[in-house]
Amino acid sequence: MTTPRLEIRLDRLRHNARTLVERLGSRGIAVTGVTKATLGEPQVARAMLDAGAVAIGESRIENVERLRAAGISAPVVLIRAPMPSQVDRVVAGATVSLNSEVAVLRLLAEAAQRQGRRHGVILMVELGDLREGLLPGDVAAVVRLVRGLPALELCGIGANLACQNGVVPDATNMAELSALADALDADVLDAGSGPRLSTVTGGNSANLDWALGDGPRGRIDDLRLGESILLGREPLHRRPIEGLRTDVFRLVGEVIEAKVKPSLPWGDRARTAFGPAALPTSRGDSHRVIVALGHQDVDPVGIDPPAGLTVLGASSDHLVLDAGPRGPAVGDEVRFAVDYSALVRAMTSPFVAKVFLDGDDPGDGPGRSGRVADAAAAPWFPPREVTA
Ligand SMILES: *Cc1c(COP(=O)(O)O)cnc(C)c1O
Repeated sequence: MTTPRLEIRLDRLRHNARTLVERLGSRGIAVTGVTKATLGEPQVARAMLDAGAVAIGESRIENVERLRAAGISAPVVLIRAPMPSQVDRVVAGATVSLNSEVAVLRLLAEAAQRQGRRHGVILMVELGDLREGLLPGDVAAVVRLVRGLPALELCGIGANLACQNGVVPDATNMAELSALADALDADVLDAGSGPRLSTVTGGNSANLDWALGDGPRGRIDDLRLGESILLGREPLHRRPIEGLRTDVFRLVGEVIEAKVKPSLPWGDRARTAFGPAALPTSRGDSHRVIVALGHQDVDPVGIDPPAGLTVLGASSDHLVLDAGPRGPAVGDEVRFAVDYSALVRAMTSPFVAKVFLDGDDPGDGPGRSGRVADAAAAPWFPPREVTA
């Protein structure tokens, strides 16, 4: 099979999505499945929708259009504020967008009017992480403004934490968002006659600890989940979430050199292609392998090799590993676990083939050489000496 390739297990992804939909559903919270790390991959979106996600969240209009072109008709939420230059495409492709600027809202209204559509709007509220959002005291005035633009439909409010400054979603900031929703209903929307804010989207995968805890959920009725579904981990501490698969994705690379070499370089040393070189510690001769992967394929810091292999460094096209006393041979495939950064880079790289696997979870097949090293397995294949 082609290498490098990113293997994507749709059955495992569906399991993760379904598990989170069920757990949050029992708390009255719906899931918007976020596909942005997969560039709006329609098969990933379909797996999330099949598992019970009520909508798909996407950060880029190109990805929204890709979903629509593939026939996805579910609600799609643009989760990054629209660029003023893209409002026509946003109104045409996305059902709803997350917004924090009055100027953009006016442009969206004009675009929607031109197209004879209504565009859904969620107003983002700044709760302390200092990325996007209106300051809480400014939201009521913007709600009034949106209510005066008939081409826009005010769907609700939302917040995003943890992404910029690592501010943790907790009982305090979630209660603040709930209280704001109540206040907007009471003051601005003329509760009793006007519609209530229908959606209060509390955040992303970093909200799961709070959402699945014992405290009241308040008005929060939606979370936008990407990383937790894709990687089975919560992003605050990168801990696996109980019951979820952390092996939806594997990056498979191929060994192009395997030799015994000294562990210390020789000659005068200066900067490397990617900055200062770390000084290796002397460990005598060691088995070193080069896998045909590099910065153009993946974030080398975010990959986890099989037991027995250690990443020593990477340049654009070469990933150098220490294989300890024994290791893979030229032509062997090596499977790596990926973190969010590595996943995004691999999905974005034109050099990495994307291979979808689905069905009965048959396990990872052998590579071309018949032997596969997998990040999940230890020891990762029968011990075998590498010839220098
Ligand atoms: C990326 C993003 C999400 C999803 O975040 P995960 O940590 O992948 O769950 C949700 N909302 C917004 C606004 C985002 O930018």
